[in-house]
Amino acid sequence: MSDKPISKGDLVMVVRVAKCCGLAKRLGYSFIVNKIVFQSYYCGSCGAPHSADWVALLSENSGAPFYRLRRIDPPALNDDIPIGEELHV
Ligand SMILES: [Zn+2]
Repeated sequence: MSDKPISKGDLVMVVRVAKCCGLAKRLGYSFIVNKIVFQSYYCGSCGAPHSADWVALLSENSGAPFYRLRRIDPPALNDDIPIGEELHV
């Protein structure tokens, strides 16, 4: 698989608890990245301030920092599978 960084349009899943308070209630939550920002933020659960980090946003008020996320590669778009005009018989 690739180590491509998370980017807009990727499907990601929350796979790690928050490092401040161990918040785990959003584990398994997946969403399509709508926007990526580098900013400081506050934990949505305990309110702890976090220094600037890369954050993937679903909307203005919803998202998760990269360290909590894992990108889910759509199997159909795997680079190893030839598609369309790349096929020559
Ligand atoms: Zn917290």
